[in-house]
Amino acid sequence: MTIDFLNLKRVNAPHDAAIRAAIDKILNSGWYVLGDETSAFEREFAAYCGVAQCVGVANGLDALHLILRAYDIGAGDEVIVPSNTFIATWLAVSRAGARVVPVEPDERTCNIDPQLIEAAITPRTRAIMPVHLYGQPADMDPINEIARKHGLRVIEDAAQAHGARYRGRRTGGLGDAAGFSFYPGKNLGALGDGGAICTNDAQLAEKLRKLRNYGSSVKYRHEMDGMNSRLDELQSAILRAKLRELDAENARRAVVAAAYTEALAHSPLELPYVSEGAEPVWHLYVVKTTNRALLQAHLNAQGIGTLVHYPIACHRQPVYANETWPDLPIADRLQDRVLSLPMAPYLDSSEIAAVTTSMLEYFA
Ligand SMILES: *Cc1c(COP(=O)(O)O)cnc(C)c1O
Repeated sequence: MTIDFLNLKRVNAPHDAAIRAAIDKILNSGWYVLGDETSAFEREFAAYCGVAQCVGVANGLDALHLILRAYDIGAGDEVIVPSNTFIATWLAVSRAGARVVPVEPDERTCNIDPQLIEAAITPRTRAIMPVHLYGQPADMDPINEIARKHGLRVIEDAAQAHGARYRGRRTGGLGDAAGFSFYPGKNLGALGDGGAICTNDAQLAEKLRKLRNYGSSVKYRHEMDGMNSRLDELQSAILRAKLRELDAENARRAVVAAAYTEALAHSPLELPYVSEGAEPVWHLYVVKTTNRALLQAHLNAQGIGTLVHYPIACHRQPVYANETWPDLPIADRLQDRVLSLPMAPYLDSSEIAAVTTSMLEYFA
C-alpha cells in the first residue's frame, strides 16, 4: 500500500461534480475577475468565520502583507511574529519594509508563547502576528490583552486554520484582521492560488478592496499605490462549493488525528498537544522525535509519505542571512524534530492503521 503525504486528486475527487458545475458557470458567464461569485464567496466566508467583512485576494502572503499596508505599517516599524512558522509570515512583514521580531513558541503547542511577547515590545512595535500553526489556534486571550495594553494591532495568520475554534470562536475573528490562504493543500483549497482577509472593521475592508485592485474603487481612478491581488471568479466559485463541505472534512481530519493519537499514545513520540479551549482543524498532524531521519526513512521504505514543516527555521533561511537574530533554541529544536504524518479527510481506517502500524514497528 502506498500512502501519499497528501494526494490532491483524492482531496478534490468528492467535489468533482460541484467543481465542474462551478467551472461551467464561470466559463458561460463571460465575467472572470471581481464579480458576483467573488462577492458571494466573500459573504459566505465572512459568515463562516463569524466576521462582518471578507476581502478576497490572490494568495495568503498578499493577505497578510495587505493588512500591514492597510494599517500603514512599514519602514521603521516592528511586528512580532512566531519564530516557528512558514516563511510567508515573516516575508509579509519584510516586504512591507517593517522589521520582523521573532518570539519563541510554547514547545508543546508550537504556537507563539504569550508569556514571551511583552519582553519583545519596543516603542516601534505596531502589531503582533500570531499564527494558528498546523491548524491549532494560538492562545489569543493573553495576546489580545497584551495588544490592548500596548496599543498594538493583532493580525492572525490563519492560513492553516480554516474553521478552527478558540474558546468557541472561529479563527479569522479573533484579532483585528486575519489572513487566509486557499493554496490547494490547505484545509479549504482552490485549484490554484487564492487568499482572503477577514475583519470586523468596515473601513479597513474598504481600504483593502482598493489596495487589492490598483488602489481603485472607481474604474480608472487610482487613490493609492495599490497592487493587483484579486481572488478570481473561477477560484471563488470552486471555493464556494468546497466551503459547504469544510466542516465535514475538518471532522474527518479530527477522526484521523484521534486515531493517530490513540494508536501512538505509548510510543516514544511526542504527540500534538491540544490546549484547553482549542478546537484544532488538523491541517497537519505533527509529531516530535529525536531520530527523525531514521523514522522517516523507515516509513518511506513502506510507501508512507511524510514531510517536515519546516526543515529550516525562518531565521536560518538564506534570505535572512544578513540579519542578526536573538538565540531561538526552540525554533532550532523544532526544525530538527518535527515530522508531519499523512493527513487528509479521505484517509480510511486501513490507511490510518498502516501508518500507525509502521510507526510502532519502527519503535519495536
Ligand atoms: C500557506 C501559508 C501562508 C501563505 O499562503 P500562500 O497562499 O501560499 O501565499 C502563510 N502563512 C502560513 C502559516 C501558511 O501555511
